[in-house]
Amino acid sequence: MFSEWPRTWFADFMIIFGFLVSGVALAGPSGRAELDPHSYSNPGQVRVGHLDLDLDVDFARKVLVGEAIWSLERQPGCPVDASLVLDTKGLTVIDVRTSQGTQPWQKVRFELGKADAILGAPLTVWLPVEATRVQVRYETSPTASALQWVEPGGTAGKKLPFLFTQSQAIHARSWIPCQDTPSVRITYRASVSTTPDPTGPGGPFRVVMAAEPRTSAQAVAGKPTAEFEMTRAIPSYLIALAVGDLVFKPMGDRTGIWAEPSVVDKAAWEFADTEKMIQAAEAAFGPYRWGRYDILVLPPSFPYGGMENPLLTFATPTVLAGDRSQVALIAHELAHSWSGNLVTNATWADFWLNEGFTVYLERRIVEAVIGVNRVEMEQVLGEGDLKDGLASLPPSDQILHINLKGRDPDEGVTRIPYEKGALFLEALAREVGREKLRQFLAGYFDHFAFRSITTAEFEAYLKMTLFPGMEVPLNLQAWLHEPGLPTNVPRFESPRFEMITKTAQDWLAGAPLPLADETQEWSTLEWLQFLRSLPRDLSSERLAQLDRAYGFTKTGNAEVACQWFQMAIRAGYAPSVEPLEAYLRSVGRRKFIVPLYKALMQTPAGTERAKQIFEKARAGYHPIAIESISKLLNARDATE
Ligand SMILES: [Zn+2]
Repeated sequence: MFSEWPRTWFADFMIIFGFLVSGVALAGPSGRAELDPHSYSNPGQVRVGHLDLDLDVDFARKVLVGEAIWSLERQPGCPVDASLVLDTKGLTVIDVRTSQGTQPWQKVRFELGKADAILGAPLTVWLPVEATRVQVRYETSPTASALQWVEPGGTAGKKLPFLFTQSQAIHARSWIPCQDTPSVRITYRASVSTTPDPTGPGGPFRVVMAAEPRTSAQAVAGKPTAEFEMTRAIPSYLIALAVGDLVFKPMGDRTGIWAEPSVVDKAAWEFADTEKMIQAAEAAFGPYRWGRYDILVLPPSFPYGGMENPLLTFATPTVLAGDRSQVALIAHELAHSWSGNLVTNATWADFWLNEGFTVYLERRIVEAVIGVNRVEMEQVLGEGDLKDGLASLPPSDQILHINLKGRDPDEGVTRIPYEKGALFLEALAREVGREKLRQFLAGYFDHFAFRSITTAEFEAYLKMTLFPGMEVPLNLQAWLHEPGLPTNVPRFESPRFEMITKTAQDWLAGAPLPLADETQEWSTLEWLQFLRSLPRDLSSERLAQLDRAYGFTKTGNAEVACQWFQMAIRAGYAPSVEPLEAYLRSVGRRKFIVPLYKALMQTPAGTERAKQIFEKARAGYHPIAIESISKLLNARDATE
């Protein structure tokens, strides 16, 4: 059903070309991207190494005007007349030049192939045999899939627009022509200017990248530019950029926060444990090899959770709970500094090597910094998520080493690579002991540092180092290559959750609520468990008792507020009416707003109210969120 390669003129051309001219087939044995069905590129023949990127961010036209200079590395056995193939998506290519060393640039022949809806279009460059560099001048599309152009209304400050990128999985090609496969690692230097000028009437914009800043604003062609350098080899999906009204606040020697001015202090307080988490991760899994670890807090309209861009995690502001309770998200993104960014999945079929390992590491970090109770709760929740995932996905999507040929790799982002992957490592830990697994993981990160590996390479390394000359006690075939779960999977328990559930049941049966100082140490997870243990139709009077005791209506915790407001809507609890509207007008994360609009729409009056709130709130939402809520409201109209 799935073809090995999308049928494009290029694939046809290369097959014919290969036979007629050089006798080398497209899928040469020396390269890896030829094994990656989500890239057209040919790193087995000609591989890109270093990128010099020059960008102008044009806010008025919502495009990037770019110049990308790639260094070229011809691979052993590469035919003399080999072309270079780059991935692009929606790019307008203005011209392509090559040069040898420092010789002048010469225009060369290039062709942009037919565009595939998922993969975009291959850019083939006919290379002179002596060429060592290629320069592509191009412009992005206003609808580039990696670029989110946030209107001023969608920011915290509401004065300046904001731009941020999301390159994973295969969106880097929509803003940089590149060999967009995680098997190719590159270094880069970037120079970024903005239109309008950051210091001019549209300013002050601040440009940040997931890289090291190099020089302060320096006039290039009369325009101030920000410069960055990434000296450690990374896959293309980790190239990241953000531009907006940003300020920086240090937290420690190597940690700090980038955020809008009104958000930065709150974020620095919330994430104060970051240095402790880095130290815990280093003690367990080896040195943090990236230099700084900063966190960029995106506008409230960011419709997702977080992204592990190197040196600079991108995060939703809804983790600013006001009680330091949501650090698991930062622990997760930080853990990617080892699993994912240091040792990287070679293709998106190996995504579980990134995410399963990261969830396992995240829980070890949380265990070390917060404690075992928290981890037990997260494991029980993870177990539930995995159960839901297995129940809702077809067998072929329940496999860790998944086949995603012919599909958008974003479709592989389910709970399987995360929770089944982590469960596999937990099973290994219970087999060999947690300390021995820790040593294995530290050795694994060191051995494969700054490399991209396949599931097969992991399996070989596991057998060689952890089980030399003996049978692997786990059924690796079942864990990695078969749907469902093997027999005897690890189970989790949380005495805390059992206690919380009992507290809720006791209160319903007439016992007093626990006093505020008894619940002072409760985290978000415990509050959610408490509220979810209560009946769906809890009365307004009961809610008022809870609100008097714990102040749920005024909570600064977006996760708890979402749960509370759903209960308040169902009960028609009046004191939450105005705060609900304020919440929906300030938060744009889909995970939270979709359930609230759905809850409102259970009655005709609620539906009217949902529409009124949406009209006021939509300017602050991301286009993806606007789309989701519009669909909800329109579906309701159709049934009325
Ligand atoms: Zn992750």
